[in-house]
Amino acid sequence: MAPTASSSELLSIAGALELVLERVGPLPVERVPLEEAYGRFIAADVAAAIDLPPFPSSAMDGYAVRSGDTPGTLSVVGESAAGRPHSGIVRRGEAVAISTGAVLPEGADAVVPIEVVVREGDDVSIAEPTGADAFVRHSGSDIACGEEMLVAGRRVGPAQIGAAAAVGLGTLPCRRRPRVAILSTGSELVQPGGMLGPGEIFDANGPMLRAALRTSGAEITRIPTAADTREEHRAALERALEHDVIVSTGGVSVGEHDLVRDVGFELGVHEVFWRVAMRPGKPLAFGIRDRALLFGLPGNPVSTLVGFELFVRPALLGLQGAHNPRPPFRSGVLSEAVTRLAARDDLIRVRAIRGDGRQTRLAPLAGQQSHQIAVAAQADGLALIPRGSGGLSAGTEVDYLPLHG
Ligand code: AMP
Ligand code: MG
Repeated sequence: MAPTASSSELLSIAGALELVLERVGPLPVERVPLEEAYGRFIAADVAAAIDLPPFPSSAMDGYAVRSGDTPGTLSVVGESAAGRPHSGIVRRGEAVAISTGAVLPEGADAVVPIEVVVREGDDVSIAEPTGADAFVRHSGSDIACGEEMLVAGRRVGPAQIGAAAAVGLGTLPCRRRPRVAILSTGSELVQPGGMLGPGEIFDANGPMLRAALRTSGAEITRIPTAADTREEHRAALERALEHDVIVSTGGVSVGEHDLVRDVGFELGVHEVFWRVAMRPGKPLAFGIRDRALLFGLPGNPVSTLVGFELFVRPALLGLQGAHNPRPPFRSGVLSEAVTRLAARDDLIRVRAIRGDGRQTRLAPLAGQQSHQIAVAAQADGLALIPRGSGGLSAGTEVDYLPLHG
């Protein structure tokens, strides 16, 4: 990536996010079988293809009656069970035994629950008057054929799949899943499960990103770790740049062995920004080549985690046409005083404690350095401590971003 001119005024988190989202356009639409649609994003409004329920039906097990016949003793002339409707008409003085969800027979306008009747032989006695429509589900009362049911930009969860299935849809129009390449850089990295040599560490970012990507709808390709040589970086980035999104970690700082931006530049990546006024994760780089988006996340694992949540996940949601791709910050109150940084917003790892009141208390964890991923593993969220002079006292309301458990 063309090394950006350094400026004393760093880009804000919000400014950087806008620069990312400006470059994110929704991916093409495809029809996705219902069984595979969980977690995908609806690409176009979906209307109900039939009335739901498709016919007037009973909300209870009981007796279908003419409400005007109640109270009274009626003769039971048949049964309407789920999937096996009663064929005749309910006439005056008659009742039809009915199960929940079964078709309300013609002539009947109400259902009397089984719990409030006395059945003797073929007679059923109803002591109380029943109003018209009691325990009747009218056809189309959930949704009428042609009405809008699922809205574009919404994520498909179990309820949306249930609704689509209920109106008989076998597929849903969804955005294609983003193809994402993950690349860990660093000659010191060993895959977990292996043996550490002198000066080596395990690759925490690769597995962490893979997990984070799984919750953001991505189709993941893991590029083998690139050692800190131009050749390995070039080969790895060349392959990675064939994807919609590339998430690399490490090698974006100012050290002699930090090669991602340089090699990205050689490969035609245009750098949109480098460095954001935040801690951790300041040297984050973002660039584009054609439609490919390259996120160069700093190597310290907490920087990777934070950079992912603030910029990569929103980009992935944007690519999938999400209604609101921005990080879902909530508000909470600090349980203790914190210091502030003069020039950078601080994203501190906190425990989120829901007390008796409605407010969530945010308790900063001890150990806020960017390499402390084991401490971050105890956090429920990232509290945003805005830059400024002086500290924030206990009880101050701040925004926090929940971390998925
Ligand atoms: P870098 O930006 O490449 O200088 O990396 C910053 C710090 O993060 C160094 O201490 C690296 O060893 C460490 N680091 C880089 N990549 C990873 C990784 N995948 N897993 C764990 N630590 C890493
Ligand atoms: Mg490195």
